[in-house]
Amino acid sequence: MSEKITSVVLAFILLITTVFLFPVSAAELPENSVAVKKVYSGWLKEKLILPYVDLNTEYYDLGLKRRDETGDAVTIDAANAIKRLGVGVKCATITPNRQRVEEYGLSQMWKSPNGTIRGILDGTVLRAPILVSHIKPAVRTWEKPITIARHAYGDVYAGQEMRVSEPGEAGLVYRLDGGGKERKAVHRFKGPGILQCQFNTDESIRSFAHVCFKYALDTMQDMWFSTKDTISKQYDQTFKLLFQEIYEADYKQAFESAGIQYFYTLIDDAVARVIRSEGGFLWALKNYDGDVMSDMVSTAFGSLAMMTSVLVSPGGQYEFEAAHGTVTQHYYRHLKGEETSTNPTATIFAWTGALKKRGELDGSADLADFAKALESACLGTLESGLLTKDLAALSDHESPRIVTTNEMLDAIAERLQKMI
Ligand code: NAP
Ligand code: MG
Repeated sequence: MSEKITSVVLAFILLITTVFLFPVSAAELPENSVAVKKVYSGWLKEKLILPYVDLNTEYYDLGLKRRDETGDAVTIDAANAIKRLGVGVKCATITPNRQRVEEYGLSQMWKSPNGTIRGILDGTVLRAPILVSHIKPAVRTWEKPITIARHAYGDVYAGQEMRVSEPGEAGLVYRLDGGGKERKAVHRFKGPGILQCQFNTDESIRSFAHVCFKYALDTMQDMWFSTKDTISKQYDQTFKLLFQEIYEADYKQAFESAGIQYFYTLIDDAVARVIRSEGGFLWALKNYDGDVMSDMVSTAFGSLAMMTSVLVSPGGQYEFEAAHGTVTQHYYRHLKGEETSTNPTATIFAWTGALKKRGELDGSADLADFAKALESACLGTLESGLLTKDLAALSDHESPRIVTTNEMLDAIAERLQKMI
């Protein structure tokens, strides 16, 4: 590739980001740290992408300050922009808790931006570990990657909660548009307590099922699905029944011809089986289960930073991200002027995933090839034994060398340059 890939090719790429490298958003840096901001916000992009690609992007700042200033409208704008443009990259954002509300002087405890974006795009988050040969999974039997498909709509992420302090009665009420209502008693409180109400829709569950079955077929992997339908006889049972119905109607034959299996089991049974398995399957999970299990699976395969993550929406839009958060402790160390050893792999793969998808949608083989080269440069660097701290303890490389965030990026950039 002798010339830069032109911006025409990338005319529609959308990047939603708060930070191009860890650990937090440039926008979330304190007011007086402009110099730091400048250094920090562009490392990854400047070293690995901009020398080769003319990026033409829309930028949405999802830093806490900007979300607070706009009453979180910027998050909604970002989600709608992905809908419009088709591809987005999102970097980790802060979901504020009480402590962050004080730290950043927020007007309220804003919701998770991921929850808001997923609520608008709907869809399924697919998370697959990135394997390196000298990093052995913590679970000895795992030989192949386990991909997690997390339903990204509804449940506790879009529910309502209440803290009650006085005695009283809680119930569910459903008012029909055509008149009338259905009621169910929930609990009579004698004192303080908590309440929660969640929902999902058949439409979203169906589209979740289709994404999962299609992905299993595309990648020729068995597919597992698990819920707690024995306890949740309406809610989780609906997921189980819809998946079964869709499997029978649309995928059974294709699965049988491909020699792969669809397997439903209770979530607790699935967890035990996953640990005893050799991997190599797609594990479909409800929203919360997928949130928790993807962190467990990625960490057991190496590190939170060794996992790809993409939201696939039923409208055919894609949002690529790193599965991990803002790595707060590393950021605070960086602010104190200390070197960090933060693993950039997941963020690099978020970019390459987006560039590959953009290349595919626009018919640009050059762009897709560049993204593949960047992935190889990143993996090649890790294979050579150059590691960030999170991977050091897990590696059985003969002569591992632990490097700083910047040294890692430079090594990848050098390898990429040679490849291209
Ligand atoms: P986290 O940022 O993922 O970090 C958890 C720990 O995992 C880190 O302290 C670090 O361990 C290790 N780690 C994660 N990514 C790493 C990387 N790239 N390189 C090296 N080590 C890495 O999760 P958290 O501490 O629970 O959350 C921090 C903030 O991120 C919170 O404000 C949360 O709301 C937000 N968050 C955002 C997203 C998202 O936007 N998708 C997801 C999760 C969390 P050591 O400290 O031991 O080195
Ligand atoms: Mg999680």
